[in-house]
Parts: sequence; C-alpha cells; structure tokens
Amino acid sequence: MKFKDLSQCYFKLEKTQKKLEMVDILADTIQGADSKEIGKIALLTLGKLYPDFIGIELMLAERMAIKSLAIATGKSDKSVQALLDESGDLGKTAHKLLENKPQSTLLAFTKQEEQQELSVLDIWEIFDSIAKMSGEGSSDRKIRTLSGLISKVSPLEARYIIRMVCGQLRLGVATQLLLEALSLAKTGTRENKGVLERAYNRTSDIEFVASTLFAEGLEKISKVEVKIFNPIRVMLAQRVSSSEELLERFGGKVALEYKYDGLRVQIHKKGTTVKLFSRKPEDITNQFPDVIEFINNAAKEDEFIIEGEIVAYDLQKDKILPFQQVSQRKRKHDIDKKISEVPVRVYLFDSLYAFGKSEIESDYFDRRQLLEKLVETNNNIQYSHQTVAENADDIENFFQQALENGCEGVMGKDISKGSSYQAGARGWNWVKYKADYVDKLSDSFDLVILGADYGKGKRAGLYGTFLMGSFDMIDAVYKTFTKVATGFSDKNLQYFYDVLKKLERAKPKEILSDTECQIWFEPSIVIEVTGAEITVSQIHTCARGLLGGKTDGLALRFPRFTGRIVEDKAPEDSTSNQEIHTIYLNQIR
Ligand code: ATP
Repeated sequence: MKFKDLSQCYFKLEKTQKKLEMVDILADTIQGADSKEIGKIALLTLGKLYPDFIGIELMLAERMAIKSLAIATGKSDKSVQALLDESGDLGKTAHKLLENKPQSTLLAFTKQEEQQELSVLDIWEIFDSIAKMSGEGSSDRKIRTLSGLISKVSPLEARYIIRMVCGQLRLGVATQLLLEALSLAKTGTRENKGVLERAYNRTSDIEFVASTLFAEGLEKISKVEVKIFNPIRVMLAQRVSSSEELLERFGGKVALEYKYDGLRVQIHKKGTTVKLFSRKPEDITNQFPDVIEFINNAAKEDEFIIEGEIVAYDLQKDKILPFQQVSQRKRKHDIDKKISEVPVRVYLFDSLYAFGKSEIESDYFDRRQLLEKLVETNNNIQYSHQTVAENADDIENFFQQALENGCEGVMGKDISKGSSYQAGARGWNWVKYKADYVDKLSDSFDLVILGADYGKGKRAGLYGTFLMGSFDMIDAVYKTFTKVATGFSDKNLQYFYDVLKKLERAKPKEILSDTECQIWFEPSIVIEVTGAEITVSQIHTCARGLLGGKTDGLALRFPRFTGRIVEDKAPEDSTSNQEIHTIYLNQIR
C-alpha cells in the first residue's frame, strides 16, 4: 500500500468524530493491504512503531522536526516556528509549507526522486532507522534523514509523517476502534472484533493480531494463546466501599488478599531469561536486576508467567514501605545505587502460564495453588497474604490487619467456578476495597492532565491550574472531570511545567470539553486526585451520556492532588468515565 493512500485515509479520519464512520473509513482503506504490511499499518495508525512492550518509540523533539522542515523547504527555523505558532499544529505546518514550496528550494538530491511514491513499509523502515539512531551526532543524522524524507513526499504525506515522528498523530483511533476496523475489513462484519480482542489481550501485540488475521484468517486468530515474553493485558478490579458490599458481590464467600501498594509486575521466565512487564505494559526488566535475581533463585520451574506487586521493603524492621519509596525505583539511571537505597520485595498473587500451557482460563484457586509449584518463598519473594471470608466482620478484620501491615486495603477475588483471569478487563471477578473508599470524602482518582491555565503571583510563568480528565471506554475520548489547583508543591509545579511544556498542543481531537483552558496537552500524564464529592455538572463532560440529561456530566468538587504521579498507567487506563459513574451511583445510594 502506498503511504499516500494511507494519508488520504487519515485525512478523512481527521474530518469526523463519529466512531462508526471512522471504522468504515479505516476498514475501507486497510482491506486493500496485504498481510506483510497490515501489521505496520496497524502500528502506525496507533502512532506506534512497535508494540509498547518492545520499548522502541519515535519521539523526536519538536525542535528537530522544525529543523527538518526548514531544511526540506529552504526556510529558516524561525519562519517554520512562526507558522507553527500560528496553527499550533506541526502537521498543518508541514502541509502548508510543502504546498507553498517553490521548486527551486528543493534539496538538490530530491529532484530526480521526487516522483517516487513511497509505500507504507518504506516509511516504517525509515522511521525505524530514525528511532534506532543513537550516539554522537545522532540528532543531526535524524534531522537529515527526516528532511530527506519530507522533501520526497506530498504535502499530505508530510502532514502525517511529521506528526508521527513527534508522537502527535492524534487521529482519535484507539486500539478498540482499530480492532473493529480490522474485523470489518477482513471478515466483512464488526461482530468479530471480540475474537480479535481476545487475541490482543493475550499478546498485547496489535501487529501480530493484524498480520495473523490477514495471513491466516479468523479461525487462526481465535486459537491464539498466551506466549512467554508477550505480556498478557492485565486483569483489573472494580471498587467497593464496604465489607457488606464486598461480600454481597461474591454471594457470601470470597477470597481476600492484601492489596499491596507498589508496582504491578508480570514476570515471564524461560530458561535463565526473565523479563518484567509493568501494567502498561512496558518492559521494566532493566530497572529491577534484583528482582530478576530473586526470581532465578526462587524458581522451581524453568518456564512460567506469574504476577505480583513489587513493594519497597525495610528488611531490618520487616516492614512494607509506602508507594513513594518504590516509585523511586522506576528509573533508567543509577539503578545499582537505588537498589541498595530502596530494597524491594515481591508479593506474588497469580500464575498465568506454566508447564507449557496457559492458565488464564483456570479458576482462582487452581492458579493460586500453582504458584506454589513454580516459586519458593523466601525473604525477597512471598505469596500475597490471603484468607477466605464468609462474613462482613471477617472482611473488616482482615482489612484492618492489611492497613496495619502497610497495605492500602484488600482485594476480593471470586472463587466460584469460572473465576478465570480476565485479561484486559475490569470486571467484577476482582474488587478492591481501599482505605480511601471508606471515608466517602476522600475517594481517589487517577486522572489525565488535559490542559492548564497559567498561575498567578508566586506561580506566574508556570501552570497553576490543571484541567483533569478521564477516559471514556465506550466513546474512546477523554472527558473532563475537574480543574485542580491545590496539593501542588513548588517543586511539583516546576516539574509539571518542564514535562508538560513539551506536550503542549492545539486542542487534541480526542478531548471532549466544554471548558476552556489556556493550554492544551497531548493526554499523557496521569496523576492521583482526591475530592470531596462527585456532583452532576453542566460544565464537565465526564460520564455524559450515562446520566439523565443530554448535557449532564459529572464533576469532582474540592479536588486536590495527592502528590502521586501515576507512572505505570497509560492515559487510557486512567479511572474511566464508567468507573466514575459507578462511584457516583454508590455515593448517591
Ligand atoms: P490502583 O491504582 O487502585 O492500584 P489499578 O487501576 O492499578 O488500581 P486495579 O485492578 O483497579 O488496578 O486494582 C488492583 C491493583 O492492585 C493491581 O493492578 C495491582 O497493582 C495491585 N495489587 C496489590 N495487591 C494485589 C493483589 N493481592 N491482587 C491483585 N492486585 C493487587
């Protein structure tokens, strides 16, 4: 497929917000792709070069893109920057610059090649080479490669190329929409999306799912199983706010485990190779060489996938330390130093693959018992503390005990037949009951920073108020929930300014907001916010469509930043509109 054709499809996608229409547009284009290119098309359409767990990204700084555009079009950096300031959009800037480009300003070498039409695979390969350039002089090489590419393509292609290399594609196409389009393109109906989703949840690999579907058909996709070193999309929990509710949810009998406040980890082992994946899922193997050693020492089998929580641990005092400690271990540098400063312990709670087969369809107790066959416990590795409760008092006692032991609450887990591991789902087979839910006034939410207003006085020059949003799983857009200005230290404000400055954009299409703010951001950063109460709002759009009136949304009153930056959640994993709606219903009940 020519990249030109894919660009035309992207242009049509940009013009609509309607999800069904977007699926049709995308399906129409990708049905012409062959099995060698569809995987790359799928990745590029999500703005990626590789699946997240591979860890190779295209994230050129905006100034490099500006330089490349300037070289390719014979303009000065300043005039490109001026155009960008005007439109607020790199893609439109590139488009406009190339449309107005006089022939005489073309780079000399591009003249003969100008007619060349690049395929999607050509573009992917050039992107790949840019992403892998490193070391001395790599910035220059990236700029040269990109400017060479831009000078060969049409204005429309340049629009998307420049957005892709800077991580700003913003088509409003999320994984779910893409899966639906793949289903429609290859099987003629949207109905098979579930089959594709099942395969995606087992492999976290959209490239694999798309290319297998196109090469070998739906039958093959429906048989895709868990594979070692492909992270399984994590199972998530719903919330309850009392022991009684917890018990009721499980029909009077439930397994309880401590809810450790750390970093979720999925551990894959084959021979001596061990890889660790976060809940995102990202490969975090290099950040935890100590955990790799613990696992190799404690393993009873050669091959498995298990899950647990990494917590900071004070070995002398035999005590779990707060989340803030372990979060310091999420770093790329000075790892050895941090290992001794912040020792960790792993609490294992699930097993997902063992003895050559997937266990995700197995029931809770079977998976739990299997853990004991796979890993021994010692000072560094433990199984999560567990009990079975049949009344609310027992739950309350276990809950108090969990809090006394440095945990944030308890997990309730279904023990009935069919209590499988629901990869990629936030179902009712698992619930969480946390200390903050007990006091209704301090519910906490993981929200995405969507926009900001500049601060005044001491905060002048920095962002002072942040517009916070939550992801709507059905509409696949971010909706606004509150504006937060309290709870930030001076250090926090400087940090957010430095990080968010690079993410400033024209208002992204995937944000549904009736509230204005001075600056909009690419939805990327997730932070924890508490609040007093959820109220119906005509200003905020969260849960709009789930409530009575057409314009009714939900808003969080008296919001406050807790100080916690939630690094292991992608923005689509923020507390969803649907969850917030459930919390609201509980609150009014
Ligand atoms: P939270 O921010 O409340 O941890 P979350 O969105 O990361 O929520 P949920 O599925 O809602 O994830 O809550 C369960 C989380 O609790 C898991 O992702 C995991 O990191 C952590 N956890 C701690 N102890 C356990 C346990 N015993 N069983 C399952 N998950 C546990």
